[in-house]
Amino acid sequence: MKILLSDSFDASLPDRLRKFGDVTDDKAQLAEAEVVLIRSATKATAEYIASAPKMKMIIRGGVGLDNVDVPAAEARGVRVFNTAAASSIAVAELAFAFLLAIPSRIIDGHVSMKEGKFLKKELKRTELYGKTLGIVGVGRIGTEVAKRAAAFGMKCVGFDPVVAKHDIVEMTTLDGLCAKADLISFNTPLNDSTKGMVSASLIEKMKNGVVLVNTGRGKIVVEADLAAALESGKVGAYGTDVWESDPPPESSPLLKAKNVYMCPHIGASTKENLLRIGDVIVEILGREYGK
Ligand code: NAD
Repeated sequence: MKILLSDSFDASLPDRLRKFGDVTDDKAQLAEAEVVLIRSATKATAEYIASAPKMKMIIRGGVGLDNVDVPAAEARGVRVFNTAAASSIAVAELAFAFLLAIPSRIIDGHVSMKEGKFLKKELKRTELYGKTLGIVGVGRIGTEVAKRAAAFGMKCVGFDPVVAKHDIVEMTTLDGLCAKADLISFNTPLNDSTKGMVSASLIEKMKNGVVLVNTGRGKIVVEADLAAALESGKVGAYGTDVWESDPPPESSPLLKAKNVYMCPHIGASTKENLLRIGDVIVEILGREYGK
């Protein structure tokens, strides 16, 4: 059996997989591969799947399956797995890093000192303590964000169409969340209900100066609407790990908008998570191939 590692995984993974078969990272061998391991870079479209006649299984190291044409895979009898629970801590820590760094002015302080400025009087910080955090998408990652927020003395309100009650998060409507939250963390997948959800009409319902953090998916945001709200000050700041595409096109208005804090889609890329993803892949193959 040939296993193709089509994206980057922990360096130890190829050796751990050799007991299952021949392991390669040569994408030219796709047509020979029975198992294809991907993260977010490879787009497993219907054409991609059709070009791999021996493929029996796709394993997505990570959560979002928006880069896999699941119906096309299923129609061909190709089974699709992800490593859903592995990444929750890694992504929640990045969301929380934005939630701390933005009001604490850490990035502004760092950048201005690099520019030779000492803005002791100008850089006013705000505390998280006593503030209300809105969590849109109260699943695995949203829950980990809520635990961290609670430890900082924040109140959490949440919106999620399938979560009616939660231990830490007071569940409400999306409009109710927007009215109450000082900061909002978006932790949803990309789907029909979330695509373009952060539009001018939703932003209008938020508090003035609200801080938004997105580690979910870039396409949940209408970029032009958010850029305009950042320019006007309606939205105080936007911290994002996720983009319309990886990397975003130069024309993305968010690249130049005021008070945008950016990461290049590194939410899942902790050393520990890459090892956990590897563990889950070995477990799936062990279960399926009995080794
Ligand atoms: P999860 O399935 O445990 O939680 C997602 C929650 O979002 C679910 O409870 C779902 O009901 C909810 N949801 C769906 N539509 C919604 C809507 N319209 N409004 C509000 N909530 C809605 O998934 P998870 O493990 O918490 O991951 C969430 C997402 O985070 C993934 O789908 C992926 O897009 C993203 N993610 C990003 C990175 C990164 O590198 N930045 C890494 C992993 C996952």
